[in-house]
Amino acid sequence: MGPPGAGKGTQGELLAEHLGVPRLSTGDMLRDARANQTDLGRRAERYMDAGELVPDQVILGMVAEALDGPEPLEGFILDGFPRTIPQAEGLGELLEKRGTPLDAVVFLTVPEDELVRRLTGRSAQEHRTDDDPETVRRRIQVYRAETEPVIRSCLESGVRVVRADGVGSIDEIQRDLRGQLGL
Ligand code: AMP
Repeated sequence: MGPPGAGKGTQGELLAEHLGVPRLSTGDMLRDARANQTDLGRRAERYMDAGELVPDQVILGMVAEALDGPEPLEGFILDGFPRTIPQAEGLGELLEKRGTPLDAVVFLTVPEDELVRRLTGRSAQEHRTDDDPETVRRRIQVYRAETEPVIRSCLESGVRVVRADGVGSIDEIQRDLRGQLGL
């Protein structure tokens, strides 16, 4: 978990490779759905372009499907999900049904001016439609309002939360995370 631009995708991918498990990114799933112009992709478009969250029921349906694929998943890294309290509750139910509790929540912190710098720089390279300065500011606001409470509730619920400084080289941050996770 962490704000937009914290490096969740990069660090999540490295952890997933190290563990030999898939990384399930709701952002990537939505971008794929858009690229393929599926019903779900078309429904998600306007929320994504405005920097708003796609409705919880849409996201939960998508994650449930990803976890229920033809091959049983032995483990996975969730990236960019859950982002709201109802999503966290829905995830709790899905995991309980599977009998696979969460091992840990990884939380990356980055100061806000650095996030804005990273995200607006990224739009030039990756052409993400939601990386223009105004949308970036909105995505950070939404994160503070909707997602930070999820981190607080994780801390309160006693699930293991690993917190890492998201400023530094990719390798340094990965080393820190693996060290803290004992991997
Ligand atoms: P991301 O790549 O994780 O930054 O996600 C890009 C955009 O997809 C977000 O700004 C949201 O519009 C949407 N999105 C991704 N994951 C979620 C989620 N868990 N809940 C709601 N919207 C999401």
